[in-house]
Amino acid sequence: MHTIAAISTPQAPGGIGIVRISGEQARAVAGQVFTSVSGKTLDEIPGYTSLFGTVQDADGTFDQCVAANYRAPKSYTGEDVVELSCHGGLYLLRRLLNACLAAGAVLAQPGEFTRRAFLNGKMDLTQAESVMEMISARGREAARAARAGQEGRLHDRIAGVCEILTAEASHLAAWADFPEEAVPEVSQTELHTQLNEAKDSLQSLLSGFDTGRVLREGVDTVIAGRPNVGKSTLMNLLAGCDRSIVTSYAGTTRDVVEDTILLAGIPLRLADTAGLHDTEDPVEQIGVLRSRGRVEAAQLILAVFDSSEPLQDEDRQFVELIGGTPAVAVINKNDLENKIDILYIQSKFKHIVYISALQGSGLQQLTAAVRQVLQLQAIDPAAGILFTQRQQAAAQRALTAVSEALEALESGLTLDAVTVCVEDAVSALLELTGKRVSDTVIDRVFETFCVGK
Ligand code: GDP
Repeated sequence: MHTIAAISTPQAPGGIGIVRISGEQARAVAGQVFTSVSGKTLDEIPGYTSLFGTVQDADGTFDQCVAANYRAPKSYTGEDVVELSCHGGLYLLRRLLNACLAAGAVLAQPGEFTRRAFLNGKMDLTQAESVMEMISARGREAARAARAGQEGRLHDRIAGVCEILTAEASHLAAWADFPEEAVPEVSQTELHTQLNEAKDSLQSLLSGFDTGRVLREGVDTVIAGRPNVGKSTLMNLLAGCDRSIVTSYAGTTRDVVEDTILLAGIPLRLADTAGLHDTEDPVEQIGVLRSRGRVEAAQLILAVFDSSEPLQDEDRQFVELIGGTPAVAVINKNDLENKIDILYIQSKFKHIVYISALQGSGLQQLTAAVRQVLQLQAIDPAAGILFTQRQQAAAQRALTAVSEALEALESGLTLDAVTVCVEDAVSALLELTGKRVSDTVIDRVFETFCVGK
């Protein structure tokens, strides 16, 4: 296999930039571009140690460098790896990469380092996919889930189900192939129990997929309510910056302003809305219409009310718009005297929190309510969840096959029919972890990676 090299840090100026080299010739390639100050070579030092020196090409020395040495199999890829850390200038890094290519390395394909790690058994396919999730995580919860995936939690969950099914499949096969031998008869009750257990595990795995998506992509959130209840103030509080204009005149927030904020470690894609009220102003009407569309399409609504005033018709009209969208009633201006008709709110909302957006109080309760509404309590990202559509599709195939096996069993079909379904489920799960997977699937997984990863 070729020795590969790539710039592994972002394609932008930075304090430090790294060119990574992996393969049998890693030290030989690095040895041609790197000269240590101490006079030692990378061949002379053990793994997990570094040398300080300079890098050069045919035109001479062009930067200082720290060369980190990793010896196979104790490296990210499982091969010999050298990481050359220089100053993070784009020109410098490209020059360093070119020097490595001139010294015999081949430019790495997207995701090739991680692909080699997978092929060398350093990680399974779900762990490799978690690497991408780690890089793209935008909030604490997504990062936690990705880390759990990288540590093999998802792999363990799948392997657990796979073990149950493999045991049943091999028992069924042995019993069918050697009926006259002393293979214990397959107990239908036992088989039924095991298949049901596998089905439950797969269903719970699949139900976590949507959570994974919420953690990764964020939740489309609308902060809505009639003018002047404090929507912009709340949004600014959540966003931690003056993203939209706050004023005490009705109807100055004219258009939808977008921002992503983190609440309880989950990215909320916020759309501040123009006041939901009738207006003659055409610009405002567009804003109102757009905000109405947003209310209907939202995944989460923070419905804001002004506690210092009695409810108005506009408040009630807006509540009617919410329909079945998950919502939290946010009773704002809690610092003022309370005049709101709370019984009406209680009859319409399951989740109600009191805050003062101006004083910044009540955020904790709001956070807890949001987690509840999004039903995030029930799922622990650290337990390993499905991230990618590939994973979801494979898990779904396994679930379908197990359900079919159960149906076959319950309707009294021959055990052969059950065996075929159980084997289908096993092969879907082996594809999920990458244990038995085609090159096409592997290609598809790694082509979404960036070069250098
Ligand atoms: P919006 O039209 O719903 O976006 O409302 P704004 O955020 O523009 O707020 C309207 C007015 O209410 C402003 O003068 C805010 O300073 C004030 N306001 C917002 N939140 C609070 C709060 O919690 N307490 C008090 N006393 N005033 C608030």
